[in-house]
Amino acid sequence: MMSTAHRVPSASALTLADLEALDRGDRLRALHDAFTAPDALVYLGSNSLGPLPRETPARLQEVVARQWGQDLLRGWTAHDWIGAPHRVGDKIARIIGAGQGEVAVADSTSVNLFKLLTAACRLQPGRSVILSEPGNFPNDLYVAQGLRAMSDGRIQLRLVSADQIETAIDERVAVLLLTHVHYKTSAVHDMARITERAHRQGALTLWDLSHSAGAVPVNLDAAQVDFAVGCGYKYLCGGPGAPAYLFVAQRHQAATVSPITGWLGHAQPFDFVDDYAPAAGIGRFLAGTHPILGIAALEVGIDLMLQADAQARVDKSRALTDLFITLVESRCAGLGLQLGSPREAATRGSHVAFRHDQAYAVMQALIARGVIGDFRAPDLMRFGFAPLYNSYTDSWHAAEALREVLQTAVWDRPEFRQRRAVT
Ligand SMILES: *Cc1c(COP(=O)(O)O)cnc(C)c1O
Repeated sequence: MMSTAHRVPSASALTLADLEALDRGDRLRALHDAFTAPDALVYLGSNSLGPLPRETPARLQEVVARQWGQDLLRGWTAHDWIGAPHRVGDKIARIIGAGQGEVAVADSTSVNLFKLLTAACRLQPGRSVILSEPGNFPNDLYVAQGLRAMSDGRIQLRLVSADQIETAIDERVAVLLLTHVHYKTSAVHDMARITERAHRQGALTLWDLSHSAGAVPVNLDAAQVDFAVGCGYKYLCGGPGAPAYLFVAQRHQAATVSPITGWLGHAQPFDFVDDYAPAAGIGRFLAGTHPILGIAALEVGIDLMLQADAQARVDKSRALTDLFITLVESRCAGLGLQLGSPREAATRGSHVAFRHDQAYAVMQALIARGVIGDFRAPDLMRFGFAPLYNSYTDSWHAAEALREVLQTAVWDRPEFRQRRAVT
């Protein structure tokens, strides 16, 4: 249920003043001021790169100038650099419903995916299929294809559409690999139901939480999820290229091994023995030396997220995205837009997609007006709403800018049609 503070008046009657009132009543408003907000910008890109927490530059300055500059290698123990993947992993665990010791910060999402997918397949020697869906984030399919290529024919990749997934899980499926919130449409899979269905068929599950953590409710332990990975730079606000995280359910930890048997995943890395022996627990999924500066920045974002009440975050995310859909559909009616996301808030992530046949140029024209979302081929515009950062008036200004761009057809200028390397 939405709390009273987040209830939005009906579409036709809405005024900017109503939304300003909602912003004043917003329980999470104080957290907005914990972020750097560039002037005159409506930033709706947290599903791609979360905004900068105000504290991050000072924290990085401290880690660089004092910890590194003055304490040098003593920092590994004096500042517990060595324990950072576990310390911050345990904090992320609280956001995704995992237990202490089940999450570690490491590498990139892609590398973590490779490690856990390989480990999961090895737990299932009699099974050969990785099951996923077409249109999953391509990276995740590429990593599965790489594993298949290394397997000498043992591993197959099978893709079936989202509505067929549950019935396609059979005794050949080793691992079900799904992204919880779809990167384009924002559609949410029913994690608990699908995981239960997979387990009934003896399959393991690996969920990608890149668009979920901090945006929608996630409870890995309640859903009995086996493995998960996720990204640090989207809603978690860890900064561009922030380290990612991985989750291995406690019950699997002793039996699973990482295919990247690096020294920081060794039981006794500082014994420097010749033979690999995995660390007890989640530590065995670490590979090489972790990026202390990257983890320091990520920890600031995680700490902010933990300051927000989880239910308040979810309520606000749903209210902001509901409001945006309502505003766009009422103000931009007849201008060629089509909702590309689920209408029901509980089955939607924290971004909203709209289709338009000139989506790329329209988004470029919006960006030129200071409304920042992004484009995904062939025809989607994505607008990401971060509950800690965005306001109800952001939805208003974005919808108004969209109406102006479409009504005036300003998008039809050559400079907006020019494709850039990053969309
Ligand atoms: C953002 C994202 C990633 C990121 O992977 P990187 O290794 O950080 O580039 C992975 N999976 C999904 C579903 C994502 O949305």
